Amino acid sequence: MQYNYHIMPFQFGRFEDKYLMVNESGEYHFIDYIELNNFIKGDFTTNSPDINSLKSKQFMVTGDLSNAVNMIATRYRTRKHFISSFTTLHMMVLTVRCNQDCKYCQVSAESDTAMQYDMSPEVAKKSVEMAFNSPSNSIKIELQGGEPSLNWNALTGAIEHAKLINKSKKKKLEFVICTNLTNISTDKLLYLKENGVYISTSLDGPKYLHDKNRILRSGVGTYDIFLDKLKEARSICGYDAVSALMTTTIDNIENMNEVVDEYIRLGFNGIFLRSLNPYGLAAENSTDLGYSIKRFTEKFEETLDYIIELNLNGVDFSEYFTTLLLSRILTPFSTGFVDLQSPSGAGIAGVIYDYNGDVYPADEARMLARMGDTKFKMGNVFVDSYDEIFGGSVLREIVSKSIVEIMPGCSTCMYKTYCGADPIRNYLEYGDLIGKRPGSSFCEKNMAIFDILFKKLKEKDSDTLDVFWAWITRRPLKEVRLEGI
Ligand code: SF4
Repeated sequence: MQYNYHIMPFQFGRFEDKYLMVNESGEYHFIDYIELNNFIKGDFTTNSPDINSLKSKQFMVTGDLSNAVNMIATRYRTRKHFISSFTTLHMMVLTVRCNQDCKYCQVSAESDTAMQYDMSPEVAKKSVEMAFNSPSNSIKIELQGGEPSLNWNALTGAIEHAKLINKSKKKKLEFVICTNLTNISTDKLLYLKENGVYISTSLDGPKYLHDKNRILRSGVGTYDIFLDKLKEARSICGYDAVSALMTTTIDNIENMNEVVDEYIRLGFNGIFLRSLNPYGLAAENSTDLGYSIKRFTEKFEETLDYIIELNLNGVDFSEYFTTLLLSRILTPFSTGFVDLQSPSGAGIAGVIYDYNGDVYPADEARMLARMGDTKFKMGNVFVDSYDEIFGGSVLREIVSKSIVEIMPGCSTCMYKTYCGADPIRNYLEYGDLIGKRPGSSFCEKNMAIFDILFKKLKEKDSDTLDVFWAWITRRPLKEVRLEGI
């Protein structure tokens, strides 16, 4: 029997032997070509096999349209909730100096004696005051560099000033230090512990891989010192107060399983399989350090399979980028992530204060400035007001040109509901903020990773899905499977 229904907005694309449909609520559905055709032409009958699924996922509506539109609008607002907490992350470059000389350093760090690249206590205070002007109820101050512990006076000054201001502001206040750990002393760790500062550090794999790129200025590898300091940092600040990030280079890309094993051996409970960014020394040394996006995504898939297998063998360990994307695909919740959101998180989710008080919408924009292009400078903490910096033309242009829902190439992409934009990288690659898709390296990587994840969702292997839900809900796999309960 013929059926009357309204078709709600959705995107679709070919996916292996089927078509993948995704709507604005973030729901997805695999469908045969003939059924898709029937659906679009309004030829569905009461016997159509996809009818119940498409109705419950709001691809089609029967009866009152306004209720369905309101429901989709509510879900859309929920997914975009991250926009309402305007600028939570405030990064401060306490110095561009570094005691290390990592071959892929994105900021092209200066030698540890180049004091002219230190943030002064006045700039530190003014930057903290600027951060507290944000309407967000949460303020996260990320202290970074170079190596931020080299400018300890600015670090303690920033923390103490933030705590003082927060006595009256009463916001949720968090501190993070991004440190290579090799310059950290016991006294410094005790201070970080006392002030509840989280530690974010870097680890590229076992010694022979880590030491290829993460070296001291003398050329000596940093793995051994790093390991000692990691142990001390955990014993003083607490095990969970220390997390690590890895960078994929030509040196470790073929040995990703070993990198994962090392993270597990050292007690980390997850990894972010992160590709190289085209900034600073990483750009200069790209011939020696780089690889194709295709190779990266192939290794990403292999490593993901390896991690899933480890989970099934009793090791609770997650891949963070996969977890983020799966949360977007499988849950209705808002998942702001500065590097992949629409509009872009640059400036509206995170902002960075350079050592001299210049303000940039993202670390990459500051790196671009270090490479000689200050296109994205939003202002300076001493010269410009909060409204001038955060309501100025730089941020307005970034927002207006990073909404995937209206960007050429993205607006019809089946993955747009889950994806985001990187206007600064577009500018670097194409000379304009909008860039081109699907040919950009950013799009190629994201599209390939979405393909990998949807392939697994289409296969519906119950073991893999259990692992995915364990990651999304941050529970042990045994608990998700109700084993031993
Ligand atoms: S960046 Fe690529 S994958 Fe993402 S929405 Fe745009 S076209 Fe799709």
